[in-house]
Amino acid sequence: MKPIRCCVACKSRKNKEDLFRIVADKNNHAIIDRNQNINSRGIYVCKSKQCITNLEKIVIKNRMKLKIDVENESMLEVLRELGEEIWEN
Ligand SMILES: [Zn+2]
Repeated sequence: MKPIRCCVACKSRKNKEDLFRIVADKNNHAIIDRNQNINSRGIYVCKSKQCITNLEKIVIKNRMKLKIDVENESMLEVLRELGEEIWEN
């Protein structure tokens, strides 16, 4: 069975590989875990424009306590980067 994870924006459950994984590094900066193997607590978000935009809003409004402790600005940078990747496709 493939590992299933939950998108923090829309809460839907998907195969891990269909989601982006974001983790916090030692300095509490958000980084994209491309190979999904960094040994750190991570959050997952759908590879969709909508979920990335919604997660941006969540981070800006600080409405939801994310499971990882990351500095907001670095999180927004990561989301912008992921957003651009999706826009290109
Ligand atoms: Zn989602």
